[in-house]
Amino acid sequence: MDAMHDELTGLRNRRNFVGLLRRCVSASNEHRATMALLVVDIDGFARLNNAYGYDVGDQLLAHLAALLGEVARSHDYTARIGDNRFALILNRVLNQGHVELAIQKLFRLLDTPFQGERMRFRIPVTVGAALCPLHASQPDALMRRAEAALVCARAEGVRRAYAPDASRDLELSDLWDLEMQLAGAIERGEMVLHYQPQLCANSLRVVGAEALMRWNSRSRGAVAPDIFIPIAERTGQIGKLTTWALNTALRQAAEWGVDERVSVSVNLPGTLAVQPHLPELVEAALKLWGSDRVQLVIEVTESSLMDAGRAFASLEALRRLGARISIDDFGTGYSCLAYFRNIPADEIKIDQTFVRDLLGDSASADIVRVIVELSHRCGFRVAAEGVENQETLAALRRLGCDSVQGYLFGKAMASAELREWLAEHRAEHFA
Ligand code: C2E
Ligand code: CA
Ligand code: CA
Repeated sequence: MDAMHDELTGLRNRRNFVGLLRRCVSASNEHRATMALLVVDIDGFARLNNAYGYDVGDQLLAHLAALLGEVARSHDYTARIGDNRFALILNRVLNQGHVELAIQKLFRLLDTPFQGERMRFRIPVTVGAALCPLHASQPDALMRRAEAALVCARAEGVRRAYAPDASRDLELSDLWDLEMQLAGAIERGEMVLHYQPQLCANSLRVVGAEALMRWNSRSRGAVAPDIFIPIAERTGQIGKLTTWALNTALRQAAEWGVDERVSVSVNLPGTLAVQPHLPELVEAALKLWGSDRVQLVIEVTESSLMDAGRAFASLEALRRLGARISIDDFGTGYSCLAYFRNIPADEIKIDQTFVRDLLGDSASADIVRVIVELSHRCGFRVAAEGVENQETLAALRRLGCDSVQGYLFGKAMASAELREWLAEHRAEHFA
């Protein structure tokens, strides 16, 4: 068996699956064809292994793999993505009902008991499902939502669950209307950047601000970035929006009137991180609006590093232009520790979920501790976002975090507002 397939079941392995999912999601977005991701887990697998032995465990896995193969149509894919976890990608489905048919087919097949050498039993399985674009339109988000649905199904004691709708009540037709509206949003002056302050964790001096896009649609009111950014990515409008954000952020940051050098961070979507013309875009913006007092920081999500070869080259080019790189949402992607130290970055930004759970959940604290230690050893600074209270700030300081950002200090605000905020908070401390 090769490095891309699982020896026991012959299915694609996790590594193979990550690339495959990405391709299926991008085909779904491109052709506007709904696809579904099912995550299938054997319940209590460790217990089964203990009770019947590993041979039987292996037979169960192979049997389930074969059943998944029966459910898959010619253009669907199956993979083994964990010890007792499988994935089924259903391409070109019509709707959720269509997905339900596939799930029910799997359950029907499973109703025939598995016949081992010494016993017969039904394989207990739980399924979590998420649809693209209904629940998410990015591969890693889709994966997270399908896995979250699996957790919900378990918690509710049901055999299968769907992710709750990401786009809330948005129907497909509504999505397409948003898409149309988004196309002219910059020209109509509906887009603005808001800025959220970032502070040094120890001194609480303001070191910079992150630019976050806001869309005040004339016809629809405020539309959340979680809604319109994925649409922009899917339709390719994100390129234009990012160019606009780069230029606007550099221009506005130069007007903040701070004495010390201040950084302004712009979010770069994964789809652009690998575009060959990206360095030109950044260079042009820096030529037009660059200032000695403003340090440009580009935030890319950890998951956009999946295509490490291409993304790394492109980020290196940005660093040569003088931009700093921050790896956003760190800890949620599929980063491989083997290449961690080679990531062309200056900063690792720990995902909010770990920060939020820091006080209550010792696993989150451990993860943050490991990320900080590893980052410092590799020469990266560490930022934390989503800091909402003093206790979390104190914990992050103890763990050695370098910079912090969150509602405790300030929400994202318009450029003029931030300018006033900076003047007020230059001396004032939050401790
Ligand atoms: P992100 O890049 O991880 O941005 C951080 C999000 O966390 C922002 O939400 C921010 O307002 C929110 N946040 C900050 N501090 C706290 C806190 O203490 N508590 C809580 N609960 N939330 C906090 P926002 O502005 O809604 O943006 C959501 C996401 O949309 C961003 O996540 C980013 O992925 C995307 N986005 C926003 N603006 C842009 C942009 O200009 N370009 C791109 N490509 N994506 C953007
Ligand atoms: Ca960010
Ligand atoms: Ca983030």
